[in-house]
Amino acid sequence: MAETPSTTGYDYDLIVVGGGSGGLALSKQAAKLGKRVCVLDFVKPSPQGSTWGLGGTCVNVGCIPKKLMHQACLLGEAIEDAEKFGWEVEKANIKHDWSKLVMGVSDHIGGLNFAYRVSLRENNVTYLNAYGVFKDAHTIECTDKKRKVTTLTAEHFVLAVGGRPKYPDIPGARELGITSDDMFSLPYAPGKTLVVGASYVALECAGFLTGLGYDTTVMARSIFLRGFDQQCAEQIAAYMSEHGTKFLRRCVPLSLERIEPEADSATGRHRIRVTWEDGLANEPGSDVFDTVLFAIGREAVTSTIGLEALGLKANASGKVDAPLEQTSVPNVFAIGDVINGRPELTPVAIQAGRLLAKRLYGGATTQMDYANIPTTVFTPLEYGCIGMAEEDAIALYKEENIEVFHQYFQPLEWTVAHRPASTCYCKLICNKLDNMRVIGLHILGPNAGEITQGYGVAFRLGATKDDFDMTVGIHPTCSENFTTLDITRASGLDPGAKGC
Ligand code: FAD
Ligand code: NDP
Repeated sequence: MAETPSTTGYDYDLIVVGGGSGGLALSKQAAKLGKRVCVLDFVKPSPQGSTWGLGGTCVNVGCIPKKLMHQACLLGEAIEDAEKFGWEVEKANIKHDWSKLVMGVSDHIGGLNFAYRVSLRENNVTYLNAYGVFKDAHTIECTDKKRKVTTLTAEHFVLAVGGRPKYPDIPGARELGITSDDMFSLPYAPGKTLVVGASYVALECAGFLTGLGYDTTVMARSIFLRGFDQQCAEQIAAYMSEHGTKFLRRCVPLSLERIEPEADSATGRHRIRVTWEDGLANEPGSDVFDTVLFAIGREAVTSTIGLEALGLKANASGKVDAPLEQTSVPNVFAIGDVINGRPELTPVAIQAGRLLAKRLYGGATTQMDYANIPTTVFTPLEYGCIGMAEEDAIALYKEENIEVFHQYFQPLEWTVAHRPASTCYCKLICNKLDNMRVIGLHILGPNAGEITQGYGVAFRLGATKDDFDMTVGIHPTCSENFTTLDITRASGLDPGAKGC
């Protein structure tokens, strides 16, 4: 509880419900602007019992552990390359230790959890490890781990409750399956793994699991990476397939069944029989796996936070409408994954949170700009993009009004390593009706995230194809390919990789 009431007569000026990416950024910004702020953060265990500390999805069960495991996968690939660069590598002795990876990742996350607590304290933000349930628009009931209940009031509330993974409604899913909430702290090596889903989480996890040497199958019910450029999505899947990931397409799981009693499970994991409907075959498919990972999307956790006391309604995925981060209740706001129709990305939640705090308490008027947000899928062949997918640009502007420039390329690092020449790829989609403004940028290749981030600024400035052409490249890099693109899709010329 705050030591002295805020000037508004409430316990706090602001209570933020959820201490994840958005909630932490917003609460610190509001406190810097002189407000009395409290953050509630509480993690309900996953069906498998996984739980974690302060910081939300990104730091505990999302971006951070995912990127570290991706790095573990890239290092495995680098060992192969190293030999070609003259390192003497004893292949027979190369093995990967899952527990060691999990320990390293957990240690790093533990440090971050601690640093977040310290930084809240330093910014005079009160942190309560308690679950918040609204009683009315100015009152919230907070229940801590020991079931101690405290009632707090505030002038403003911000919903920053994020989301949790969905489970399919099929027998055995919750008992035997895991999700990304469990993946990164799994106490045993995953073994033969089925990943259900075909978007960011599914492909990223399948990518690093394959890279670490696990027999991995992706079960996709329809397309890969819905919403992304489908040429690039298919190229990612093709690369993963060439590197050992198996794909079951047009399939959905029907049931999971344990085929080994728990007590017999020497490895700590169970053998699970999965049966699925196969849209390309006449009869159901079936196989046995050690781990089944559901990555079928997420739902915002709003069903248990007393939305009805606020008169707010969530959609089927638990999300609330909050245009300009304002819900229909005047003193209740929302940021991050809980908002309907916004990208579920950490920097989006952070930026929206900081800007909202500045508008509420700093006299600012700047709104969050959700357009042209750069993003990267950290599959073994990384994919970075900004703006429109080619098919979306065609649908919006008509084929004759867009020009697509594209090129395969071979990163210099891949030459001596004898990696394939025409795997990495970049393309710019330009609007002929608007001075050849670049409306889509896509790159498949190493460090795609680092490359794409920089071009995000160019997008904000409204760069045209001429701006890209006039930009002097940095040689030898992958990124420089964007400055020399001259083959259009319409020309039909071969965009295969060229030499230096
Ligand atoms: P969260 O970070 O989810 O935080 C919400 C917090 O509120 C949680 O701690 C929750 O326990 C708590 N809470 C919920 N209800 C209550 C309540 N009633 N009382 C108290 N506390 C409550 N994004 C990227 O930009 N890059 C990536 O590489 C990336 N990788 C990802 C990988 C995976 C596997 C996943 C699952 C997500 C990834 N994301 C990534 C998405 C990113 O993690 C989210 O967009 C981001 O964390 C959303 O932030 P948030 O503040 O909205 O919510
Ligand atoms: P998404 O909502 O993006 O994708 C869900 C996937 O699961 C789709 O392939 C969907 O198929 C499939 N699916 C849905 N329901 C079922 C079902 N019942 N049975 C089988 N398949 C099903 O979810 P993700 O969990 O991958 O990612 C959530 C969000 O987290 C992303 O939108 C992203 O913003 C964020 N994230 C960001 C990352 C990054 O920045 N690198 C990494 C990971 C996550 P269909 O297309 O047929 O609907």
